[in-house]
Amino acid sequence: MTFTTANRSLTPVGMFTGSYINGRWIPPVEGAVHLVVDPADGSVLAEIADTTVDECMAAVDAAQDALTSWSSTPSRSRSEVLRCAFSLMTKERDAIAELIVRENGKLLADALGEVDYAAEFFRWFAEEAVRIGGDFRVAPNGDKRIVVTRQPIGVAVLITPWNFPAAMGTRKIGPALAAGCTIVLKPASETPLTATYLVDLLERAGVPPGVVNCVTPAEPGPAVSAMLHHPAVRKLSFTGSTEVGRILLHEAADHVVSTSMELGGNAPFLVLDDADLREAVEGAMVAKMRNGGAACTAANRFYVHRSVVEEFARLLTAQMQVLTPGPGGDQTSGVGAMVSVEERDKIAKLVDGAVAEGAEIRTGGRRPNGPGAFYPPTVLAGVAHGQAITRMEVFGPVAPIITFDEDDEAIDWANDTDMGLIAYVYSSDLARAVRTAERLESGMVAINRGVASDPAAPFGGMKQSGLGREGSDAGIEEFLERKYLAMPL
Ligand code: ADP
Repeated sequence: MTFTTANRSLTPVGMFTGSYINGRWIPPVEGAVHLVVDPADGSVLAEIADTTVDECMAAVDAAQDALTSWSSTPSRSRSEVLRCAFSLMTKERDAIAELIVRENGKLLADALGEVDYAAEFFRWFAEEAVRIGGDFRVAPNGDKRIVVTRQPIGVAVLITPWNFPAAMGTRKIGPALAAGCTIVLKPASETPLTATYLVDLLERAGVPPGVVNCVTPAEPGPAVSAMLHHPAVRKLSFTGSTEVGRILLHEAADHVVSTSMELGGNAPFLVLDDADLREAVEGAMVAKMRNGGAACTAANRFYVHRSVVEEFARLLTAQMQVLTPGPGGDQTSGVGAMVSVEERDKIAKLVDGAVAEGAEIRTGGRRPNGPGAFYPPTVLAGVAHGQAITRMEVFGPVAPIITFDEDDEAIDWANDTDMGLIAYVYSSDLARAVRTAERLESGMVAINRGVASDPAAPFGGMKQSGLGREGSDAGIEEFLERKYLAMPL
């Protein structure tokens, strides 16, 4: 693909590297850039604009100016813009996936899966845009009619992480635009190129100037803080770590900004004594290895009944050990690069700590020498519940296995965390699996499946894993405000 418009800056990967404010690309200024690096080899992919705080505020101003017009655009028209964005994304699937591989490091198959998943949020919310409903009843005491309408909440700041650079964007942009909100998107500094691609795609789909803005400050703290103190901002939708989420909840409190927070996970994966082990291992591979383990939904701790634990560990090890780390675009790679050397080193440290605490390495476990942020698929047996690796989100291809004796014990251990995003349960007895799922403190439970995410389902967590839901009819609600009209009979 070639881009010709003069105000767009190009990089070796053919992407936009400026800030996008009020429908214009503001090219990066020399010396005020930060680097986007290919984690598979450390090479520089692009120099991206270090958006200033003033520019971030200008982006909010632009979103504010565009709000009246966009929110009063017929929902059918907003829907058609989103539907067009879905079609463009589907058509440009390969180019977007390649870009994700380059800046994130994941396998091409994972990137293609991500683009399909991401595009579905545009299609789903194109459909939801025209279904924003209201409510009507007569007051019980008979003195009035109660009419409830829904209105867009206003200007929204959307902050996304690096692990799903496309899907975490569309999961927020889709419902925001469908609801009639205008936005400022701030993507992760590791993976801004997919975001800027999406912004250009939205422009081509017909999004008017000012409705979508995109900023890429090198230091997100001050820029986001300033935006959350701009009086026009009424919504923050954030996906990232619980640590940063907590800071932003404090920041949002000053202007009582509505927040939707998708934060960390620490997903337990329960294999009960009657589970079909081949299916459980197949599910474990998906729940663990999708995205190289860099997902907040990734299975983080495997609780396996004593009667089947050895067989489960053997089968899982057999599947993990054949996956060779390598560049995401190579057909022979079984797992791609982690997003950065720093992230890879955090994984290595957790594994080294688990081994020091008595875990036994069945495969992997050693940080490779040489360039690239690679880490091998790793199975750790003999892990005890409570060890650091069961308390931290690993965010990499590491499967710690913990043995349990009673279902109650497994459920207690699964719930023994401040997080509560997703859990996995395997049992041949569906009623038993459902009873178990009902006792798990998590916003989502996958039963006899290794993946649960779906644009039509409410994604979100309990406890410190977050506030609110994305996807489904719940996703658009996050960007709408109810207005009650008290009317005479
Ligand atoms: P991860 O561990 O997935 O990188 P982070 O919570 O660090 O998660 O980052 C998620 C998003 O939050 C990214 O877009 C990042 O740039 C942004 N971010 C990080 N620190 C802050 C901060 N202090 N204020 C606002 N945004 C931040």
